[in-house]
Amino acid sequence: MNKNHALFTQAQQYIPGGVNSPVRAFHGVGGEPIFIKAAKGPYMYDVNDKAYIDYVGSWGPMIAGHSHDRVLQAVHAAVDQGLSFGTPAEAEITLAEKVCRMIPSVDLVRMVNSGTEATMSAIRLARGFTGRDKIIKFEGCYHGHADSFLVKAGSGVVTLGIPGSPGVPKATADLTLTVPFNNLDAVKQVMAEHGDDVAAIIIEPIAGNMNMIEPLPGYLQGLREICDQQGSVLIFDEVMTGFRVARGGAQELYGITPDLTTFGKIIGGGLPVGAFGGRREIMEYIAPQGPVYQAGTLSGNPLAMAAGSAMMDIISEPGFYDYLSAQAKKLTDGLQQVADNAGVPFATRQQGGMFGLFFADKAANNFDELETCDLGHFKRFFHGMLDHGVYLAPSAYEAGFISSQHNDIIIETTLEAAREAIKA
Ligand code: PMP
Repeated sequence: MNKNHALFTQAQQYIPGGVNSPVRAFHGVGGEPIFIKAAKGPYMYDVNDKAYIDYVGSWGPMIAGHSHDRVLQAVHAAVDQGLSFGTPAEAEITLAEKVCRMIPSVDLVRMVNSGTEATMSAIRLARGFTGRDKIIKFEGCYHGHADSFLVKAGSGVVTLGIPGSPGVPKATADLTLTVPFNNLDAVKQVMAEHGDDVAAIIIEPIAGNMNMIEPLPGYLQGLREICDQQGSVLIFDEVMTGFRVARGGAQELYGITPDLTTFGKIIGGGLPVGAFGGRREIMEYIAPQGPVYQAGTLSGNPLAMAAGSAMMDIISEPGFYDYLSAQAKKLTDGLQQVADNAGVPFATRQQGGMFGLFFADKAANNFDELETCDLGHFKRFFHGMLDHGVYLAPSAYEAGFISSQHNDIIIETTLEAAREAIKA
């Protein structure tokens, strides 16, 4: 009896679609999602005891591999002290200080429980600070599932073919202005018309929710200048890229200073944490210091802070990102060679521990260009890899993630699987 099928059938009886987050379903690739029972290092193990080399890493947090000893020890120690206090605690300062040190644009940081909470709160703060209502976002960028962001969004929204979302009031959606990624003129045009009403531009500095799209040279700098001219807040959503493409995130990589930054995923070491932070003058607008309200019963949870702090220590080890980046590059170079040998149109991107795979002649620079990718090839490749024990994100619109536990043997095993998968 296939235990996976039994569990998925049972799950659908009690959980909408059988999953607690849509991208976990295999809508983008067909078939039934895999139920995982444990994970360690670069591996995940399913309920039928099959092992997979994992390139999703819980959608980002597991940059040091699953169940890293130091993270587990930190959480175990915290558990014995109590699960939640609802008061300030020292562990919150420990993590906040580490984040402020690693990200120089962050003077003050507020912890929340998810990336969505972080972006939602950052937008409210930008609106409160500027006294303006509109925001600019980019087609194919995903900033979580708050109402303001489900307008031309990436990730599961596009995988499931939902253009926006029923339930988002038109009045709210109307305040979100969308422009194509990597097109400064489009931003200037929108600003020319709406500039006085634009509270913020929010962007994934490297977009990871429409495969992986990097900013063209000068693009982020251009956004910085436009925001300065218009008095709008520049928000980098580094929920995915923070601590992932470099220790200091995409802002370190490209040398651009945003006004506010949002974090998630790695910052919690695998427990539910998000955060937003930035310039002191803006962050002081947050309650209780300022008038913009934002709160959370479990925010700064001691277990989550302990996991996040341990993770920050691991990624601060000398050479961590050099190794991570070298392994990711071995993977993307290797896959390129496998595809070239098979005569399959293919392109890749990679920064730090993040990568993109494109079944097309070249890597896309915006959402429209992504449409030239061959989704059929991706689906067959995904399932071929899965059969050979490699777990890729179950959607052509998601970036891939590698961990520091993906050593040469793991990469070579992955490439061997790719040779078999691509043949088919
Ligand atoms: N922003 C970005 C850039 C993301 O990639 C995500 C999640 N993938 C979010 C925000 C939302 O984070 P969460 O799922 O933790 O709410």
